[in-house]
Amino acid sequence: MHEMSVVMSMIDICEKHAKGKEIETIVVNIGKLSGIEPHFLESAFEIFREESKICKNAKLHLNIIDIKILCLDCQKESIVEDYNFYCPNCKGSNTKTINGKEMYIDHIELKD
Ligand SMILES: [Zn+2]
Repeated sequence: MHEMSVVMSMIDICEKHAKGKEIETIVVNIGKLSGIEPHFLESAFEIFREESKICKNAKLHLNIIDIKILCLDCQKESIVEDYNFYCPNCKGSNTKTINGKEMYIDHIELKD
């Protein structure tokens, strides 16, 4: 399960940032094309946070990022529904994905 190694490096990043403080919330942005399954990420986090002193009581908050494409013919940006990558404006297929592949920690909230 790919999500396990994602969670492990996530906790690693948190530990570097927290400087010994406890973590309250980790906010993660996940693109729909990132290949990460939010449900698996949550359960992997439940397992691994127990082993981390600073993440033990942390909550994981996931923001799901829509897939956005730019049409290279008419320059219109649009949100992809149902994995249909054609431009809804001109029906062209000459599109480029500009959003939705990413997965990153948006921010970390520390306990006072
Ligand atoms: Zn177009």
